[in-house]
Amino acid sequence: MTDIDAIRAQFPALARNIGDAPLIYLDNTATTQTPREVVDAITDAYYHRKANVHRGVHTLSQEATDAMEATRRAVRDFINAPSAEEIIFTRGTTEAINLVAASYCSLLSPGDEIVITVMEHHSNIVPWQLAAQRHGLRLRAVPLAADLSTLDLDALAGMIGERTRIVAFTAVSNVLGTVNPVRRIVDMAHAAGAVALVDAAQAIAHQSVDVQAWDADFVAFSAHKMYGPTGVGVLYGRRELLEKMPPYQGGGEMIAHVDIERSTWADLPFKFEAGTPDFIGLAALHTTIQWLTRTGLQAIADHEHMLLRRATDAILDMPGIQLYGDAPGKCAIISFLMGPRASAYDIGLLLDQMGIAVRTGHHCAQPLMHVLGVTGVVRASFAAYNTEAEADAFVGALARIRRMLRL
Ligand code: PLP
Repeated sequence: MTDIDAIRAQFPALARNIGDAPLIYLDNTATTQTPREVVDAITDAYYHRKANVHRGVHTLSQEATDAMEATRRAVRDFINAPSAEEIIFTRGTTEAINLVAASYCSLLSPGDEIVITVMEHHSNIVPWQLAAQRHGLRLRAVPLAADLSTLDLDALAGMIGERTRIVAFTAVSNVLGTVNPVRRIVDMAHAAGAVALVDAAQAIAHQSVDVQAWDADFVAFSAHKMYGPTGVGVLYGRRELLEKMPPYQGGGEMIAHVDIERSTWADLPFKFEAGTPDFIGLAALHTTIQWLTRTGLQAIADHEHMLLRRATDAILDMPGIQLYGDAPGKCAIISFLMGPRASAYDIGLLLDQMGIAVRTGHHCAQPLMHVLGVTGVVRASFAAYNTEAEADAFVGALARIRRMLRL
């Protein structure tokens, strides 16, 4: 990064201490910290523009509505969607996938198939299970290749068939860091007449996402993983599909007309946005996109890859540390275990005592843990504001733990 100190200064949390140690925040895959200007946008909206959207003629409501709809256009441009009407605001990736699973799957027939992968986050598994149970669908999962890092694309090719209706997969694994060949998988889905949903939760802040280049039918992501506010996210959906899908939830905002017996639906995108949205969070998502664009996704990706290489090279020199995920070009995620006796939880606690925040456990990817033959791993992940000194301190902390464990 050109001026890492200037970037860090925008994140007050990074100046904190944990006990006596300066915080080293390496839990970015779970959520990123949020820059001051995004938090200021939230505060400013609460102080000056808190009026419900889409229902008011008064100035405050118009301003709040304008701010939210400006975000919709900013998201459209950020992911190169054809139109703002195809941008549905949700609570996050999880709700976006649940929306598609509940609504699109209601159009399917018993015996139709949904293909996912074993490296999915639970939020791209369980909604499909619920839909499969409800509609008599069959859920199949693509295995990992022998490298235990990438998807077995031959198995995928064999699995996609004439009953396949949806292929739902992550762009980037939240455990292995693997960057999947999105366009190739989407093409495979389309060749069989299926639609493709891409979980972009881990891609959105680390590479540029272009839904048209992907040719994806649905793309889901969360603002909190892209330096933005909690509680808001996006579903991009192809217009023809969204138009034929029934509403996901009923309530205010999503109707054209309501009688006691029946109702008609609002046009896109509002058909899928029942109730008062988090319009303040959504306004702040606009500021988030401006921050990300100004900082530069390519510069962020280059910086994170540099940190990943630096830390990984050092760890590879330390016997007794088992790394999970070494796909070429992987995202800056290091998942590992140490020695035969220390649990991921133990290592996480020891790192926390040194001020280093990592995540431990199954990372909402229990099927992947089964494939890897573990119950959990420790995961350290880098973001725009992490420094080489922090990467070195992390490696140094692992060396200390190795000595404690006599590895
Ligand atoms: N998909 C992936 C790959 C993730 O890493 C996560 C969160 O860790 C999610 C989906 C769920 O995101 P959220 O909890 O913001 O809905």
